[in-house]
Amino acid sequence: MQRYTNLYWSDGNGGNVRVYEHRVFNGVVLPDCVEVHHLDHDTHNNDPSNLIILSRADHRAEHADDPRPEDIVHCWQSRRWRSQREMARHLGVSEPAVSRALSNAGIPPRKPGPKPPLPTP
Ligand SMILES: [Zn+2]
Repeated sequence: MQRYTNLYWSDGNGGNVRVYEHRVFNGVVLPDCVEVHHLDHDTHNNDPSNLIILSRADHRAEHADDPRPEDIVHCWQSRRWRSQREMARHLGVSEPAVSRALSNAGIPPRKPGPKPPLPTP
């Protein structure tokens, strides 16, 4: 899955402009000196209510407590969580962030267990 949603439009000279959707506010592309933070940590939720503009330093501080990918993997391997969604909520990260950390670590998605045998009549 892509980390962010892209927008494309023609530049009027036969070329294309590509911009991350979350960097467009009221039709204006934000300058590079500011960053956009996704409040719910879901980088695909670009609803205006989910986005705030931060300076680079403030944004870094906002993410200072984020779990590192190895922490996510460790947490998953503890098997305390029934689903990636549940664990993502616990860690305060998005589900895509969890999936990415696990797949980068070579951990396959957990398969559902075997079906219980049918009762014998
Ligand atoms: Zn952020």
